[in-house]
Amino acid sequence: MKNHKILITGGAGYIGSHTVIKLLELGFSIVILDNFSNSTYRIIKKIKEITNKNFEIIKGDITDRRILKNIFKKYKIKSVIHFAGLKSVNESDKFPLSYYENNVIGSINLIKEMELANIKNLVFSSSATVYGNQNNHLYKEDAPLSPINTYGRTKLIIEEILRSICNIDPEWRAIIFRYFNPIGAHESGLIGDNPINCPNNLLPFICQVAIGKRKKLFVFGDDYPTSDGTGKRDYIHVEDLANAHALSINYFEKTNNSFSVFNLGTGKSFSVLEVIKAFEEATSIKIPYQIVKRRDGDVCESLADPSKAKLELGWEAKFDLKRMCIDSWRWQSINPKGI
Ligand code: NAD
Ligand code: UDP
Repeated sequence: MKNHKILITGGAGYIGSHTVIKLLELGFSIVILDNFSNSTYRIIKKIKEITNKNFEIIKGDITDRRILKNIFKKYKIKSVIHFAGLKSVNESDKFPLSYYENNVIGSINLIKEMELANIKNLVFSSSATVYGNQNNHLYKEDAPLSPINTYGRTKLIIEEILRSICNIDPEWRAIIFRYFNPIGAHESGLIGDNPINCPNNLLPFICQVAIGKRKKLFVFGDDYPTSDGTGKRDYIHVEDLANAHALSINYFEKTNNSFSVFNLGTGKSFSVLEVIKAFEEATSIKIPYQIVKRRDGDVCESLADPSKAKLELGWEAKFDLKRMCIDSWRWQSINPKGI
């Protein structure tokens, strides 16, 4: 493992930092590249505190090809896990050019420099957003792809670029992970979802209500065709995602497929009201809420069929919604202002 060096773009971010910890614990050698646009350098100290291991950290941007070239010249990188990117759905429709530049151009630069350095193992963070809004909400990897926002379109474009490269060069190994709704935090409570900007996801908002930063939660719509009318999602613990990334490194070695796509979800979906109830039961904290109108661009339900990941990667989610709520709350209550 020690001589398997992995470049992790966006390794200071939410999913990246949990994955870095997992890989360090498994003995991999890690180089992080992050521009800290949505994370803080303080996370590095936390990762060291948890793992007691050393790793390289480079402050830089994936849109800067010189930095990528220098990294591949300096370190003997064998695989790349590519988390770096902008991820706000709302913001992506307001600033599409920034999203295409950061996500698509950044990824093209990365892939080009990988090719020049003859490095052909890449794990890419895609999203359930690529499925869009379809009548059948249970998504298998071969479901039609029709993202309904700019963020999702950037993810689909990058997937397609990787598919094309793998088609012409069988030496490439590209693993596409479509994450459903990542929540939870490291069990130490030392790291968790720590966005620089205002969060816009459900669990961070629930935690802010629980901690007293907000008076109540706004529930976006109760007129969806679901059991209680609120939107349903497949929530997945960030530690389960980290485990999938660890398995992906073995998969590079054993698969003959040059392009592989996996859904990462639990295969169970929960409504907003069910999540509130699960959080209240897990923490004994009451979450006042008010139903308001639907949020623009929201889909009714999103649910993974994760059976391919189980069959081919040997991965399945271990943590349930209660544990996700407990870990999210531990992180938020220990770090009320983030880190
Ligand atoms: P995050 O914002 O916490 O982490 C992304 C990291 O990338 C941050 O540390 C940020 O500073 C860095 N970064 C952004 N642009 C960069 C650039 N141009 N150069 C270098 N570093 C850059 O996000 P996350 O939740 O950890 O998500 C990681 C990946 O997973 C992203 O690609 C995201 O789109 C994808 N994803 C996230 C979710 C989710 O809900 N969290 C769901 C599906 C997919
Ligand atoms: N949601 C909500 N109030 C909030 C944030 C989210 O009711 O303050 C709902 C949202 O409409 C969706 C679900 O919670 O049905 C999950 O939203 P999130 O933004 O976490 O994930 P995404 O919609 O991107 O899948």
